Amino acid sequence: MTISPDTPVAVVTGASSGIGEATARTLASQGFHVVVGARRLDRLETLAGEIGGTALALDVTDDDSVAAFTAVLPRVDVLVNNAGGAKGLAPVADADFDDWRWMWETNVLGTLRVTKALLPKLVASGDGLIVTITSIAAFEHYDNGSGYTSAKHAEAVLHRTLRGELLGQPVRLTEIAPGAVETEFSLVRFDGDEARAAKVYEGITPLVAQDVADVVGFVASRPSHVNLDQIVLKPRDQASGSRFHRS
Ligand code: NAP
Repeated sequence: MTISPDTPVAVVTGASSGIGEATARTLASQGFHVVVGARRLDRLETLAGEIGGTALALDVTDDDSVAAFTAVLPRVDVLVNNAGGAKGLAPVADADFDDWRWMWETNVLGTLRVTKALLPKLVASGDGLIVTITSIAAFEHYDNGSGYTSAKHAEAVLHRTLRGELLGQPVRLTEIAPGAVETEFSLVRFDGDEARAAKVYEGITPLVAQDVADVVGFVASRPSHVNLDQIVLKPRDQASGSRFHRS
């Protein structure tokens, strides 16, 4: 990876679609060399070509993959923990253990793996920033959503705990908690069922990935003494995880 020593480096996990892809484009436009990671390397390579960044295969659920990804990074100024998602929508009585494992491995342990591995480089940058994309599911729970809401609560607690543990270190931490954003999120949640995924956004104007990316870009462009701790953003048509105005 050839990057001029003066160029700040931003790492975006889960950048092969949705919020991560839009965030990578925004940070690149702000002057960062963006390293994009996810499992679908073909998509990442196209994106990296367009933004002058670097594409690297990354599976946040795999120790060796995270180790290989983080080892080649010369410096890291910004880490966006974005890789994640939901699987299924089932009451606790019908909980699917594989779905729960996927959600906890990806959102919680994935964020832990990548953050832990990159912390030394973020501190060494002298002005590091960790942005974690949690969700309004990190603040609320809703019927049939406990696998996802519990994972997002846990991911948020990991992130919020670091805010205290890193006091005195040159690293800022921002949690961004979106409501409904139209991405591949619902398609993944419902195993590729397009009709079911489309119903989630029926009759509302959801957020788009760029709305969240704009917030990340704002956070990353604040002066280094300003720590934006938590930002919650929702569509106007959404009041909570389960309350929507549908036309
Ligand atoms: P998305 O379009 O499905 O994007 C998810 C990204 O995560 C993809 O790039 C996917 O890439 C990556 N990913 C999944 N498993 C991974 C793994 N094991 N290793 C590395 N990357 C992995 O959904 P999105 O809406 O942009 O979601 C981004 C984040 O926002 C997630 O954390 C999600 O929970 C959160 N969020 C979404 C919404 C919403 O309504 N959309 C609301 C609140 C929060 P690969 O499949 O190529 O690996």
